[in-house]
Amino acid sequence: MSHSVLERRAAILDRMAIAARAAGRQPSEIALVAVSKQQPDDRIEEALAAGQRLFGENRVQEAASRWSVRRAAIPDLELRLIGPLQTNKAVDAVALFDVIETLDRDKLAAALKAAMAKTGRTPRLYVQVNTGEEAQKAGVLPAEAEAFLDRVRNEHGLAVEGLMCIPPVDEEPAIHFAFLAKLARETGLEHLSMGMSDDFATAVQFGATYVRIGSAIFGRRT
Ligand SMILES: *Cc1c(COP(=O)(O)O)cnc(C)c1O
Repeated sequence: MSHSVLERRAAILDRMAIAARAAGRQPSEIALVAVSKQQPDDRIEEALAAGQRLFGENRVQEAASRWSVRRAAIPDLELRLIGPLQTNKAVDAVALFDVIETLDRDKLAAALKAAMAKTGRTPRLYVQVNTGEEAQKAGVLPAEAEAFLDRVRNEHGLAVEGLMCIPPVDEEPAIHFAFLAKLARETGLEHLSMGMSDDFATAVQFGATYVRIGSAIFGRRT
């Protein structure tokens, strides 16, 4: 790969700003989450040196080995779990992550609540919506999303900051982003985590406040 992480990150930030202005939004409304899963240490260090502070990871154990030592030296680091979470890893996830984007079932809400009581940490939460209704994908089904949000807030007593989705690879992402944005408006949620390397400009157009970008910053995963 000919360009450095620094250059690729700068190019992404430029494209995010262009997409924001084209949609009548301020570039500062959208934050870049660098997805560091399966990336070698030298690329992580390059991103940190470039000033990147928000990172996304999809596995608890892998994230712990990459970040638990580093994070002590980086007070403004923000780690976001963007992969599915098993209830038996809830305590580890709550201990490590600042944001958990993949809350999608009652059992997990209860496990997170208990993990927060145990660790004294309260990561911010997003509900993942399986907008494409794909069998292999995590997330609450669209038709069940409002009722689930209601239970998370009122039965489990957890605050939700936003919604997250991963559109099907073979469909027009705009439809999915528009759906998620509408659901957020209807449920009083301010934040939308949506858009990856190939579709983040569209996500920004539809109201993303966080885009999750891996390969376009770091290059191919190892
Ligand atoms: C891996 C991953 C990303 C980043 O994907 P790229 O196509 O490399 O940008 C974003 N979101 C989730 C949930 C992921 O698992």
